[in-house]
Amino acid sequence: MKNFGYTIQRDQSIDIDQNDRRIVNYLLSLEPSFNLCLGCGSCTGTCTAGHFVDFNIRRVHTLLRRGESKQLKTEMKKCMFCGKCQLVCPRGVNLRNLIITIQRAIEQIG
Ligand code: SF4
Ligand code: SF4
Repeated sequence: MKNFGYTIQRDQSIDIDQNDRRIVNYLLSLEPSFNLCLGCGSCTGTCTAGHFVDFNIRRVHTLLRRGESKQLKTEMKKCMFCGKCQLVCPRGVNLRNLIITIQRAIEQIG
């Protein structure tokens, strides 16, 4: 097959009825400030871990909202808990507590 320099991505459509909201509901119950996130990406722009490895905390937010938790365990091991993301968040999301809660949710809910 001819190489056009790009690949076709798998279908990213989401079946809302099948969307597993358990982890995001757990997070919202323990860290309600997550609801204030407007997806600006400032957290990702300043992320220490993101400068060294392929890690994007905003992408983690998106995966959570979509109920796609399979990749999260590996992703969250990359966070260095420096807290810089929290310092720049314009919405005051308590990101350090959110990250700790995500890790706890992964252990408890999977
Ligand atoms: S900086 Fe705050 S508001 Fe912006 S994407 Fe990150 S968590 Fe959301
Ligand atoms: S606490 Fe984690 S997600 Fe936030 S800036 Fe530091 S390494 Fe990145």
